[in-house]
Amino acid sequence: MTARTHDLAAITALGIVLSIQPQASLTLSTVLIALLANQIGGIVPDVDQPTAPFWRNLPVGRFFGKIIGKGLGGHRFLSHSLLGLVIFGSLAHLLLQFLHPLMPHTNIGLVWWAFMIGMVSHLVMDTFTKEGVPWLLPIPFKFGLPPVKRLRITTGKAAEKGVFLAMLFIDIWLVSRNYQFFLSIIHRISS
Ligand SMILES: [Zn+2]
Repeated sequence: MTARTHDLAAITALGIVLSIQPQASLTLSTVLIALLANQIGGIVPDVDQPTAPFWRNLPVGRFFGKIIGKGLGGHRFLSHSLLGLVIFGSLAHLLLQFLHPLMPHTNIGLVWWAFMIGMVSHLVMDTFTKEGVPWLLPIPFKFGLPPVKRLRITTGKAAEKGVFLAMLFIDIWLVSRNYQFFLSIIHRISS
């Protein structure tokens, strides 16, 4: 999956969770930081890939990408598993605890959930690709859906674009359905 698809998947997953579990009082800083955390969560598993946009956009990023990629066991390894979710989730929790005094009006619990939703969406999306995802590491088996590899998505091909469009429609539907909620956020941003 391309980074663009992962970005959209992360925000779509967040939108679905929020529409099922509406949050009554959200401060503006919580909304903005949760969105940022959600997008980071959506691409962070690919830090194991030196060519990921994550690294490409940084100076000497490729160099660090190589080192971190090796440390995580290579592409689609530790950061693409339940164990990786626990490790990255714990690190994100520690980081948010540390940063909380700098952003006292932010609900860091929600920010953490937004990050995790982004990360889970990444692993779910990768499960639909030919390569599959080693969900149960250290068991080195890569799971994929559907189980027949031939029917799975190839990154950048037409099927991925179809999934991208489908998610876009879901987002438009979610926004129109929860119009008042989004309007209240925009009001808060402009006031
Ligand atoms: Zn990935």
